[in-house]
Amino acid sequence: MSATGSGLRQGIGVSPGSAYGPVVQVAPPVRPPANEPAPADADAARDQVTAAFASVAAALDEKAGRVHDTAQSILKATAMIARDRSLLKSAHAQLEAGRGPATAIAAAVEEFAAKFEALGGYFAERVADLRDVGSRAIATVLGVPVPGVPDFDEPSIIVAEDLAPAETATLDRALVAGIVTQGGGRTSHTAILAAQMGIPAVVQLAGATEIDAGTPIAIDGDSGEVMIAPDPEFVEAQRVRRERRAAALAASSGPGRTADGLHIALLANIGGVEDAVLAAAQDLEGVGLFRTEFVFLSADRAPTVEEQTEIYRQVFEPFGERRVVVRTLDAGADKPLTFADLGPEENPALGRRGLRLSAERPELLDAQLEALANAARSTGADVRVMAPMVATVEEAAWFARRVYENGLAKAGVMIEVPGAALRAAHVLGEVDFGSLGTNDLAQYTMAADRMQGELSDLLDPWQPAVLDVIAAAAEGARGAGKPIGVCGESAGDPLLALVLVGLGVTSLSMAPGKVPAVRLALAAHSQLECQRLAAAAREARTAAEAREAVRSQASAAVAELL
Ligand code: PEP
Ligand code: MG
Repeated sequence: MSATGSGLRQGIGVSPGSAYGPVVQVAPPVRPPANEPAPADADAARDQVTAAFASVAAALDEKAGRVHDTAQSILKATAMIARDRSLLKSAHAQLEAGRGPATAIAAAVEEFAAKFEALGGYFAERVADLRDVGSRAIATVLGVPVPGVPDFDEPSIIVAEDLAPAETATLDRALVAGIVTQGGGRTSHTAILAAQMGIPAVVQLAGATEIDAGTPIAIDGDSGEVMIAPDPEFVEAQRVRRERRAAALAASSGPGRTADGLHIALLANIGGVEDAVLAAAQDLEGVGLFRTEFVFLSADRAPTVEEQTEIYRQVFEPFGERRVVVRTLDAGADKPLTFADLGPEENPALGRRGLRLSAERPELLDAQLEALANAARSTGADVRVMAPMVATVEEAAWFARRVYENGLAKAGVMIEVPGAALRAAHVLGEVDFGSLGTNDLAQYTMAADRMQGELSDLLDPWQPAVLDVIAAAAEGARGAGKPIGVCGESAGDPLLALVLVGLGVTSLSMAPGKVPAVRLALAAHSQLECQRLAAAAREARTAAEAREAVRSQASAAVAELL
């Protein structure tokens, strides 16, 4: 099948729902012209390059002013790259070496990209943002349209090699029916943002950028299937299925329960005030993961206790008496916050991130806990605080003591390090609850960098080894008599949710748009059936076999809808 021909192709579904529409190809990056001459006026070229970066930063800031929360943080962080003095210095040095302005920018960007890639982890992920900034600056000095999503006026499917976070964050929800990328991964920015915005999305679709603009395509953000130039019957069948699914999902409401009445709290993952307001308006039981670092990604100094109190108050308020599980800053070399930077590390994902950073900078943790306690008191919210990246009993005990000393009632830990999962009975003995971070748990169990889209198969939470580690953690939690939930992306997969409940998980936290399908799946299965499905998944030899075993044994009515 040719890249532009019709037919069915397989990618990875990362944001649920189906969509149909013409392809809008995102304009590829602008490259410098070959053999660009050295500038005649060196000073003017210097000013031109300086002005280009400044105008890119200003345009990104202007966009940031029109959006909120995660989108705003991402845009501001990208604007900061455009304002980076060392990047500008490097571009000036390239000019002095006799390169033309566009070539000088490209060379400086590639020099930095190589450094970021060598650092790995979060820095490697920022390479897409860095190249996006470079491409915008090059377009500016060349006086050509900036790259990115072109203007369009009918509901369409956006297709790109990979979307820069700045692009995903600012997409017009009313016009973007779906998103397809050739690159990206399950836990990439594109995937998390698309799910948060409720836009069906498929990543890792081979040959996506070669599909002709305007070609109609149908995408399924659950199965990852993409049909190019589908015939009318296919489109009609997908439309009927979409409506049936919407009707079935709309008919299920209230707290999460298995068919025999076991309560499983269904909760939202949020990244700030705007997310909180949107999530609180949905039929869900509260928040299972508030990623507080998202609020401060673009802060250049540590936020004060007062500033934090006000933000947390605005997050808690919409939830009334519902629970809000807050995660303390998950920062470090892996997700750097300017004000909590411990310098570059060889292996950032294995470095001083999460609670390890809090141990080195306890004043940051104490300020955050004080602000959380203030906001909890003033709103009366049911606030529970958990720490990221906990590995040992000592760390759990240290964190819990600080939480209680600050007047907060409930302390918990993320279980996302295999060592903590295997020793969950002891680790959870020190706190009130645990929450499995299956994104990192898969990364560390399978030794596969989660930022590496090419390793998606290894990062699949259906990997039987990952299920075994989850099972060990759930058993430990049972032994300690403590509740354990899941807040990684796996909680929003309706079939996997059945397995997680079968393994003993008592709450599931996900992008709010994923809650209805998970609720429906739970309502169609008893606890015993979930346990059988979990056993079938763990008996499988591969991730694909585990998923297929569950799909084929789950209630047909549910499997058909998903
Ligand atoms: C996880 O690791 O599964 C998790 C929920 O945390 P994050 O994705 O923010 O690392
Ligand atoms: Mg994590």
